[in-house]
Amino acid sequence: MEERIIIDRQKLESIDILRVKYNRKEHVYELDGKVEAQSLVCPMCGSRQVMVKEYITRKFLGVPLRFEQTEIDCQIPIVECQSCNKISEVKIVFADKNKKYTNKFYSFFAEVINTSNIIMLNEVYGIPLGVCYSVFSEYLEKEYGNYEISNLKELAIDEIFIDNGHICLTVAMDLETKRVVWVNQGQSQEALDDFWARFGPTGAKNIKVVAVDPTSAYFSSITENLPTALMVFDQFHIEKFIDKQIGQLKQYVLSNSSVDKKFLIEGQEFVRIDKSLDLEPKELSDLALKINEPLTLAYYLKEDIGKILSRKNKDKAVKFLNNTIDLALAYHNPIIKQMADNLKKYSHEMINRFEYKIKYKTFKDFYNKVEIINPVIDEYRDITYYKLLFLGLHNPAIVKFLRSGLVFF
Ligand SMILES: [Zn+2]
Repeated sequence: MEERIIIDRQKLESIDILRVKYNRKEHVYELDGKVEAQSLVCPMCGSRQVMVKEYITRKFLGVPLRFEQTEIDCQIPIVECQSCNKISEVKIVFADKNKKYTNKFYSFFAEVINTSNIIMLNEVYGIPLGVCYSVFSEYLEKEYGNYEISNLKELAIDEIFIDNGHICLTVAMDLETKRVVWVNQGQSQEALDDFWARFGPTGAKNIKVVAVDPTSAYFSSITENLPTALMVFDQFHIEKFIDKQIGQLKQYVLSNSSVDKKFLIEGQEFVRIDKSLDLEPKELSDLALKINEPLTLAYYLKEDIGKILSRKNKDKAVKFLNNTIDLALAYHNPIIKQMADNLKKYSHEMINRFEYKIKYKTFKDFYNKVEIINPVIDEYRDITYYKLLFLGLHNPAIVKFLRSGLVFF
């Protein structure tokens, strides 16, 4: 490739290029440069009255050329200013402070993320995965790290487990834009302190609605900081809660059945009886129906709650909800009773969804995206990276990248 083109593509402003070489062994374009003498100014006061004390060499990653890496070794002067007497390293314009890549490389990286697949950076352009990882984190920080929360009106707060349950994060989402606006490690009330602090002295008074998981630990923190906001337990989280209780109910059925546990098999939804239990087919099916009766009831309960919460008329919904809960309470099973007790306890916030409707799809879509985070986690348990990832999760390009399964992360 012509030397002029190689240099021009890098957009190394105010740099004299001393040498251009293609390293065939490493498949890397190598450029040596030096900050132009006429561009020297004191970084402290802007004076041109500076004297070069020495040069230091810094290495930068440039934009790839012909699918190969470019490295730039740049000599940067340390100057003594005649005006302010300070000694300092001059600023360079082609790269951000403390960055090991040029601005042009960053633009290229951002374009690849948004139009293609990050694996290309490694496999096609030969950018080391470690560099991909750190630039990707910086990209997320730059693009999504500072969400403006002062105008937040509709909020969802949830605890989310990632990394096969090893890491729990408290996540706040703007329900209007469907964007994650803030993330912190942990699931306690205190995990939210930093979030409220970000609103400053005027507080989070613009927030009118907050959707939460009924089983989360955030209530007193929310009521203390958002005393006038409407708290809503949405259908998605209610169903998630019921599913959890159904799981407990299945275990109860397995342990408290009239049939010896060794003949019972835990199925996806119901408990099955092993055919080695010597019974007539009719007896076997009757017994299976009897054993699974509480589970059947629980599934109906879940379905009914879903129907109630998607009704249009609030008064009718309240009536049906109370009836459903009363019916469940009358059934003699401790887990179902517990389930009904909790639903009764949550009913006020459940009914609040008639004042503010939260689309079931909002959470469903979000959790589908969260699920793809898990498989890409390996030995890297970098909380900052995960936090940033959540902030960028609304971007289809980020989701696409996660789906591409870059195991390095
Ligand atoms: Zn100066």
